[in-house]
Amino acid sequence: MDRWNDLTFALSFAAVCICVSDLLFVKVQNNMGKTQNKIFMLLLCIVAMNGVCNTLTGYYAPYLEIADIAKPITDRARFIYFVFHTALAPMFFFYISHVCGVVFKSNANYKKYIYYFIFGITEILAITNPFTHWVYFRDKETNAFTRNWGEAIIYVAAAIFLVLAFKYIYTAWGALNRKRRIGMLMFSIITIAGIVIQLLDPHIKVELFAEAIGLTGVMMIIENEDDRIDPETGLYNRQAFIMDLQTYLLNKTKVHAVCLRIETPEIISRKSGQANREMAERKVSEYLVSIHQKYNVYKLGRRTFVLMAFGKSDDEAYDLASRIALRFDKPWKLVDTMVLLSSSLLVAKIPEQLDTLNDSLYMFDSFKPGKGAKKILFGDDLNNILRGSAIEKSISNGLAEGKFEVFFQPTYTIDGRKLHGAEALVRLRDDEMGLLFPDEFIPVAENNGLIDAIDDYVLMEVCKTIKEEKLDEYVDCINVNLSVVQLMKPGFVDHINGIVDMTGVDKSMINFEVTESVSGGSYDVLNNVINDLKKEGFLFSMDDYGTGYSNMKALASMNLDCIKIDKSILWEAEKSELGFIILENCIRMIHQMELNILVEGVETEEQIKLLEPMGVNYLQGYFFSKPVPKDKFLKIVHESDTRSKA
Ligand code: C2E
Ligand code: CA
Ligand code: CA
Repeated sequence: MDRWNDLTFALSFAAVCICVSDLLFVKVQNNMGKTQNKIFMLLLCIVAMNGVCNTLTGYYAPYLEIADIAKPITDRARFIYFVFHTALAPMFFFYISHVCGVVFKSNANYKKYIYYFIFGITEILAITNPFTHWVYFRDKETNAFTRNWGEAIIYVAAAIFLVLAFKYIYTAWGALNRKRRIGMLMFSIITIAGIVIQLLDPHIKVELFAEAIGLTGVMMIIENEDDRIDPETGLYNRQAFIMDLQTYLLNKTKVHAVCLRIETPEIISRKSGQANREMAERKVSEYLVSIHQKYNVYKLGRRTFVLMAFGKSDDEAYDLASRIALRFDKPWKLVDTMVLLSSSLLVAKIPEQLDTLNDSLYMFDSFKPGKGAKKILFGDDLNNILRGSAIEKSISNGLAEGKFEVFFQPTYTIDGRKLHGAEALVRLRDDEMGLLFPDEFIPVAENNGLIDAIDDYVLMEVCKTIKEEKLDEYVDCINVNLSVVQLMKPGFVDHINGIVDMTGVDKSMINFEVTESVSGGSYDVLNNVINDLKKEGFLFSMDDYGTGYSNMKALASMNLDCIKIDKSILWEAEKSELGFIILENCIRMIHQMELNILVEGVETEEQIKLLEPMGVNYLQGYFFSKPVPKDKFLKIVHESDTRSKA
């Protein structure tokens, strides 16, 4: 018997020592800011207090019969033990929920009140027990402690909290890194082992000791955040951001993310490079933690920061971003110089606007500054960015899976309105977004370099169609759009030749279109390419004439076959006198260059009547046909053939 008391005493005392040293470590490491840290310290205090109580009961047990003082001390120690021990399971639950990213900060989360209520009831039962004896009492005759119904309630509550805690661990499992998973597992195994041993043999009071050891593991693995910290700024790093965001997403935690991208002036970054960038980042970090809780600020990458704001309304989150934007109106002191840094900001609502890790990272990594005075992107701006991301994905998938399709819009001669040819216009059929139009995806493709592959595909399809359907017997040419970006690349002419030669199509059947939006200095390159292509036998048209800053001299020097007047010029000519004069003059000038003229965007008979006296050659527009899929275009081709033969 004495041996067991000694053991209880020793184990309890050891538990106290462990918890107290852990508390000291936590203090030294200064991991005390977050609610999670505070709950962890509370857990240590609870186990320490329980240890103190058990140490006392263990110490006085042999003297119960001899010393008068032994009984009241043991009774009080047991009471305090109960009060603290009752809080253990709920605190463990609250701790786990923080580790797993379940945040009870928003007032809308009614569940937290249920948890507080259950916790409150169990504590009231424990605290009032000296008067009520609902939890336990000392049997008058045997002097032994006897359990009452209150204890059953406390046990059931504890079981509920433990089950909920494990449910959170289960939900967040995928977001926890390996280290944290092992930490959780070890803690659970050690504490459960302690409880089981004590259940099997109540003499061995090893539970608290096991809990103290388990908490030490938690301190080393979960509370120690060295791997989550960016050494330069002391903020949480990208890894920490990914893990935390994943837990928030898994738990559908509502949070606003305010993302800040800073730009250092080029002179600064060139002059003193790395050091100044780091300095700028440090200064900004210091500012951010001065206005927001440090443990909710992340450094996502170079010059990119994210602030997680909990329990805020949309307006409050926007105000936070505005406040940051305002700070960037003032200069920052870097070593001995004052520098203005530029900022771009974005406010995203999670999970409403960003509900996957990939979308979020795409958004924060790739958002570009808002246009004009708009410094802060939010609300619908985000949908546009996400749409861009979806389109980018769709383009790369589309190329691999053959989701691109070439439509044809027929062109007609103005004399007799006979079929002249067609313009090939590309479409992208996305499984989710439906039919996508080039106005939306061509700019994206030009940005990420996939435009080359798209234009190659279109040219290939056009050549195949010409060959297979013997289009050269029915029409003069098919117009194919080229991106200026691609055209300027070395080896372009050989590349194009290669494709067309492979299909054996007569090159004069292909009429390339390029927009006139070419920057000044590049006219020489463009001219060379056009000359080379023309030498090969291809035709060449200038597209969207009248929309850019036409350089008449440059245009006149080009070896073109046709100029396509933009639809806006035609539409304006119908509306106003000035518009009419502009159209007339455009046409006169092109006539002087002795080039063919095609007018786009012809939608009505009136427009044709307006154009007829001006001497244009070809027409294209909805009046004749919208761009149509290949089979429909072939139908138009064959119908027009029978008509012309009739
Ligand atoms: P674009 O070359 O100026 O093509 C003419 C655009 O005007 C087409 O839009 C066509 O559907 C539209 N259009 C034609 N007639 C009418 C009309 O009567 N009324 C109105 N409201 N619109 C008319 P789409 O097909 O959406 O193409 C947009 C732009 O995308 C094209 O402008 C072209 O710059 C580019 N694009 C299309 N296909 C390709 C391609 O294969 N490669 C490259 N690089 N760009 C392409
Ligand atoms: Ca075109
Ligand atoms: Ca055009």
